[in-house]
Amino acid sequence: MNSPLRNHPALAARVSSLKPSATVEMSERIRQSRAAGRRILGLSSGDPNLPTDPRIVAAAEKAIRDGDTHYSTPAGQPALREAIAAHEKRRSGAAYDPADILVTPGGKFALLTALMGTVSPGDEVLVPEPGWVSYGPCVRLCGGTPVALPMLDRVDAEAIAAKITPATRAIVLNSPVNPTGRIVPQAELDAVVALAQRHDLWIIFDQVYSDLSYDRPVAFPQGTEAGRARTLVVDSLSKTFGMTGWRLGYLAVPSGVAKAIVKFLQHSIYCVPPFVQAAGVEAFALYDELAPRYRAMFRARLERTAAALSQVEGIDCPMSDATFYLFPRVAGDDAAVAKYWLDTIDVAALPGSAFGPAGAGHLRLSLSLSDAELDEALARIAKAGIGPSTH
Ligand code: PMP
Repeated sequence: MNSPLRNHPALAARVSSLKPSATVEMSERIRQSRAAGRRILGLSSGDPNLPTDPRIVAAAEKAIRDGDTHYSTPAGQPALREAIAAHEKRRSGAAYDPADILVTPGGKFALLTALMGTVSPGDEVLVPEPGWVSYGPCVRLCGGTPVALPMLDRVDAEAIAAKITPATRAIVLNSPVNPTGRIVPQAELDAVVALAQRHDLWIIFDQVYSDLSYDRPVAFPQGTEAGRARTLVVDSLSKTFGMTGWRLGYLAVPSGVAKAIVKFLQHSIYCVPPFVQAAGVEAFALYDELAPRYRAMFRARLERTAAALSQVEGIDCPMSDATFYLFPRVAGDDAAVAKYWLDTIDVAALPGSAFGPAGAGHLRLSLSLSDAELDEALARIAKAGIGPSTH
């Protein structure tokens, strides 16, 4: 149909019907406010404020100078796939052959690759809520239908079972959880694995924050044989190493599966730039030095922020198990509180309801800003409170 408002052919519903990401929209609003001269303190970005370690940068520079600037192998370079397999073995105990690792441009593309490889048009995919904003849209890009699963405080196998239909193909799980900072315990994962076995479902496990856990160990569905056989693991170097802009992530898959899924990479991105992969090899070599340092920094920031916010009337802020996020409860409408902060004290936070209705009544605060900026944000919040929406 011709529309008087456009002078080009119609776009595909695949993109025109997608909702823009709430987190990207907030980043845009902050950019505009800053351009207009306002000094916004950002508590909304999922980008940890870590400069990439200079040795990682040097490894990429060297690879470029050495001529590593051509097409590379679509599944990823052997040295990086070996480093990833070794990292996985140490963390989850799952022994992956490097042939079962596919290198992707970031965790987001690993997720899309996992869904492209498992979801057919008309299939349903269970997605966590509150949950990261890209799960539903990525399911839709594959022609599937996302079915929201409320899992604010726990992953409830009975609630999941009630949503399973003959069209259900996969369950997306994320732990540690964005936005809540919760680690899903082993018993909850085991119950999901048992359900997935019973209904012959894939589990797509997003563990991009698993290197940022504090007191409690992270549990992994691929840590058991039964889980490993039906889990596609999504991970990334973005959060662990402050490498969001490098676009480097991976998918770890059950044996025998990579050969088919890699065809999606061959026909789309072809490969991740080889010099970016060289940076990844260096990052894993530095893991034992860098990860504890970053973890200690975020932990201290989370603890003092949780304590400070809990002093503010109408805010109840527990410490997170992991991540650099806090997910405090607010005694009021979360979207109204976020708007009040942005409009009156130039503090940008995301309403919990941006992560699905199950997140309502919370704010997601990302501590991805400097300690000095954080102090200033906390002082402004202490003074302003949560605003007129308190009830
Ligand atoms: N999963 C979750 C839960 C995330 O929060 C993010 C980034 N915000 C990603 C995956 C993807 O990160 P990247 O593509 O940078 O690896």
